[in-house]
Amino acid sequence: MNFNEYRQHGKEMVDYIADYLENIRERRVYPNVSPGYLRNILPSSAPVDGEPWNSIFGDIEKCIMPGVTHWQSPHMHAYFPALNSPASLLADMLADAINCLGFTWASSPVCTELETIVMNWLGKMICLPEDFLHRIGGPGGGIIQTTASEATLVCLLAARTRAIREVQENDPQSMPVEINSRLVAYCSDQAHSSVEKAGLIGLVRMRYIDSDDHLSMRGEILTEALLRDRKDGLVPFFVCATLGTTGACSFDNLQEIGPICEKNGLWLHIDAAYAGSAFICPEFRCWMKGIEHADSFAFNPSKWLMVHFDCTAMWVKNSQALHRTFNVDPIYLKHENSGLAIDYMHWQIPLSKRFRALKLWFVIRNYGITGLQKHIREGVRLAQKFEALVLADSRFEIPAPRYLGMVVFRLRGDNSLTEQLLKKINSRGRVHCVPASLHGKYVIRFTVTSSTTTNDDLLRDWAEIKSTAFEILGSVTNSPSRARVSLAETRERNENFGSSLLLANSPMSPKIVNGSFAAIYDAADVFNECMKTFGRLRLHARDSPAMRRRIRGILMSGKQFSLDSGMDLVQGYASCARPLSEPGASNLLQVKEDEDFAGKSDSTLSIDKSESTIGKAQ
Ligand code: PLP
Repeated sequence: MNFNEYRQHGKEMVDYIADYLENIRERRVYPNVSPGYLRNILPSSAPVDGEPWNSIFGDIEKCIMPGVTHWQSPHMHAYFPALNSPASLLADMLADAINCLGFTWASSPVCTELETIVMNWLGKMICLPEDFLHRIGGPGGGIIQTTASEATLVCLLAARTRAIREVQENDPQSMPVEINSRLVAYCSDQAHSSVEKAGLIGLVRMRYIDSDDHLSMRGEILTEALLRDRKDGLVPFFVCATLGTTGACSFDNLQEIGPICEKNGLWLHIDAAYAGSAFICPEFRCWMKGIEHADSFAFNPSKWLMVHFDCTAMWVKNSQALHRTFNVDPIYLKHENSGLAIDYMHWQIPLSKRFRALKLWFVIRNYGITGLQKHIREGVRLAQKFEALVLADSRFEIPAPRYLGMVVFRLRGDNSLTEQLLKKINSRGRVHCVPASLHGKYVIRFTVTSSTTTNDDLLRDWAEIKSTAFEILGSVTNSPSRARVSLAETRERNENFGSSLLLANSPMSPKIVNGSFAAIYDAADVFNECMKTFGRLRLHARDSPAMRRRIRGILMSGKQFSLDSGMDLVQGYASCARPLSEPGASNLLQVKEDEDFAGKSDSTLSIDKSESTIGKAQ
């Protein structure tokens, strides 16, 4: 491909990407493929001769997309977000073209210089103590690592170097290998598996501290473990505290843990992989109290801050231990400014380094601090909304508080019910979630991931979860009467909805409930739910001339009608109508009179969904 062709195909690719991201809602979020699907459609050996671009490009939709889990989809609620954004994508386009490897300052000066600058910007944005920032002559500073796992490992290895040196200062005869065998690291039982992995690689014991009822690691129980280990001749050296755990987004208590680490000379690393992005908003910084005691801190802008993977921001108060751990100095990497400028190769495991600072720089500039704060707050607002939907359904429970953009929920009762529910949801591929186990309770984690998620997306996903739950439980135990929906929220959903005289004047009437219920669901949702519910119960239509007249009147009048009128209508026709969500169901809901209802009538009634007014108050 020459550069003229590159120009043309590059533009086509940008169009393809923009279309993909803009229309991602239409794709099934979880792929419907089995292991080995690609082996069956791709040749087993590389082509001998180059292929035309068009045939490569054509294979994206044919071979690649069917196997993609669409992480940018608003219906993706698994793991934590891994967002991108146009500014970030554009930055990497350029970084990939430059493709410099910034291991030393000299290997590409801008790589190092931009990284130190944006890491200071980001550190200030989350109000990190000054010690963590790059300052002339200061030992602290930030670096972009590949992943949070790597950041934890790097810090654990640096802490190990420091601990071994300290032991050797008092006991110069002791060997590093022997000291290593006595080292103990600590983290909560809620810590991410990457902490365990760091311990495995570092060949150190990992002690898991029981979290409290709020899934938080507390000082007292950590102290007890330290004392026990010291008594046994072991050497505690490292604590990894988590802000925003993977299972429930809970927070370890830094105010208690921090002073203990300081007093005992332990390296305190803070893993804030997901939650760290939220600290750009002052209202979420309460969980950072005690941060001043930490030695290192890391979070992933590649999760929630719309800087696409990979990008993990890591800061240390003192980079000396990193240098001592990772310093190798072959002659071919020396340069005339060695020692005068940062050489990031001494701060990380690999030698080479991508120009990741560019995407962080583009994104921060393109959104500004306020734009990024708005994005985070919207994610939290949507999670609150989802939480309210779950709370309103008595079949479900939320066993741990919602923090930030993540809700954990389960079906009341045995773990196996929730397990079945999740399996079924995922196998359908329209919503994707993953589980967690919280003190023995199996839960479904629901994270708001996409930056384009809307209220409607959430309602659609909740309807999907509820209808799946219905199938599992096999009976209707949910009472919409438990739903509490504020008037403001109903207006948000449908601006035509208002409190009617009827609703306002009869507070004990079920109509209030029905009104709210209708108002928070789309007409189509209501119909679908009704169809499923009444269809399954095999309700028989109330066949009477009065009923027939009433339904026909509703349909013909073109007037707004309340949900309970709609219910009558659905009851009348449920057994013969096709749910709107079914494949092939058109915007026009064909409702045929069946034998049970009015049986012998000549007519086929049609309700135009787009004109249906269910959900509006009378
Ligand atoms: N730490 C926590 C708390 C996490 O939730 C995760 C992943 O979600 C990680 C670490 C690992 O992140 P990474 O994939 O960047 O290594």
